[in-house]
Amino acid sequence: MRIVLMGPPGAGKGTQAVKVAESLQVPHISTGEIFRANLAAGTPLGLEAKRYMEAGEYVPDEVTNSMVAARLAEDDAANGFILDGYPRTLAQVDELDRILAGLGMQLDSVVEITADTEEVVARLLNRAKEQGRADDTEEVIRRRMDVYAEQTAPLVAVYTEKGLLRKVDGMGTMDEVTQRLLAALGH
Ligand code: ADP
Repeated sequence: MRIVLMGPPGAGKGTQAVKVAESLQVPHISTGEIFRANLAAGTPLGLEAKRYMEAGEYVPDEVTNSMVAARLAEDDAANGFILDGYPRTLAQVDELDRILAGLGMQLDSVVEITADTEEVVARLLNRAKEQGRADDTEEVIRRRMDVYAEQTAPLVAVYTEKGLLRKVDGMGTMDEVTQRLLAALGH
């Protein structure tokens, strides 16, 4: 199963991606997590990504694309994956198709977790208190929501046209949402 998980910041994408990946026994590939790990390790990639992430902006496509290409070429992704946080721009959609074609693969499904804006802002502010992520201040959260609406929401139409999109309601308990996701994926 080769799956893309989409949804606005705070919709629970990361948490759900981990659970679905466990159920389907495929790796969970989160671009946000890879960036944060690089940042923590002080790599050149991390330093490059830092200023964008802290402002709630997207890291430039060239940087993100080559990172994803390298990750998808690793052995553990050969039998499937859950991509969390990629693609996020129209250019990344095309790039993902190219990367997968080069590996002789194609996507099976794109799942959009839908969520209410005010509810997700509240969730993110709460997470900020608990985890202290640098991009979880109210100003940066609002910016991330706007960037999502401008740059990532249009991908829903593209994947609908390709016949790959499934929508899952992200409101409810964590387990309810996981069950809905697995059902949407035929499990
Ligand atoms: P969230 O979905 O909660 O905003 P993520 O952990 O997925 O958080 O991403 C955190 C940050 O990492 C993003 O705000 C962005 O700066 C960067 N990032 C992650 N994925 C991408 C991507 N596909 N393209 C560009 N930037 C990305």
